[in-house]
Amino acid sequence: GKGTSGTTAVADHADIERVVVSDDEISAKIDELAKQVAADYADVDSVLLVGVLKGAVMFMADFARALGRHGRPVELEFMAVSSYGQRTTSSGVVRILKDLDRDIEGRHVIVVEDIVDSGLTLNWLLKYLASRSAATVEVVTLVRKPEAVKVDVKVRYVGFDIPNEFVVGYGLDYAERYRELPYIGVLRPAVYSRG
Ligand code: 5GP
Ligand code: MG
Ligand code: MG
Repeated sequence: GKGTSGTTAVADHADIERVVVSDDEISAKIDELAKQVAADYADVDSVLLVGVLKGAVMFMADFARALGRHGRPVELEFMAVSSYGQRTTSSGVVRILKDLDRDIEGRHVIVVEDIVDSGLTLNWLLKYLASRSAATVEVVTLVRKPEAVKVDVKVRYVGFDIPNEFVVGYGLDYAERYRELPYIGVLRPAVYSRG
């Protein structure tokens, strides 16, 4: 990290070149986002978090608990859509791998995303949720990349704006690895060439 939390964010994994967002920065930001969301949704009966698998699992779990601490109970749903696969660039093709288990008609939905890059996946998802007649749909993403700012995709809550680099950790993978890291970081170039 940039040391804003006062801690030294040193990668404890040999494949990580640099930490972009430390675990302390992540937890402080989640608390801040949860406080804001709890205030914004204070007057509604129920809130439905829709987590996008698999990348958003860590964020979803920590964010839901933070909302609870701030007095905002939530219900949880998950969707899985295809995006990058094992590649590191967007195909633009979105496919539902796991749909919602319940009807969302009239519900106040908050989509929980790990990262918004091109915004293609999210754009498609927002149209899909609107077609399922949710009362309101907003988005919270832990991180956002510069490309996402250019496209017209409505993201109300953003944790961190990060540079245009491929990152892993805190749910984010490279070929299904590194999701368990507690921070977000950049891989050493050698990791990609070793296949
Ligand atoms: P988008 O459609 O916004 O370009 O990206 C959607 C998905 O691509 C994200 O939910 C995530 O799974 C993947 N993605 C985009 N950028 C990154 C990145 O820097 N690291 C990882 N691990 N996944 C990314
Ligand atoms: Mg995602
Ligand atoms: Mg992935």
